[in-house]
Amino acid sequence: MKIFFLLVSAGLVWWILRTLRDSRPSTAKPKIKNMVSCDYCGLHVPEDECIRQNGHNYCSKEHAQKDSG
Ligand SMILES: [Zn+2]
Repeated sequence: MKIFFLLVSAGLVWWILRTLRDSRPSTAKPKIKNMVSCDYCGLHVPEDECIRQNGHNYCSKEHAQKDSG
């Protein structure tokens, strides 16, 4: 009977610790980047990674060159 109470209390401690850990608010929020679509292939790329040319957005230099040439 003593072992049963030990198991129950151990399980209770584990459950409380798990609940406290899960309820902790996460500070690391994923940043949502502004996405733009490539004017050549339509692929969506982050705005800060896209290639800008003549007012158009492209996913790569190759597509910028293919669209202009
Ligand atoms: Zn593209």
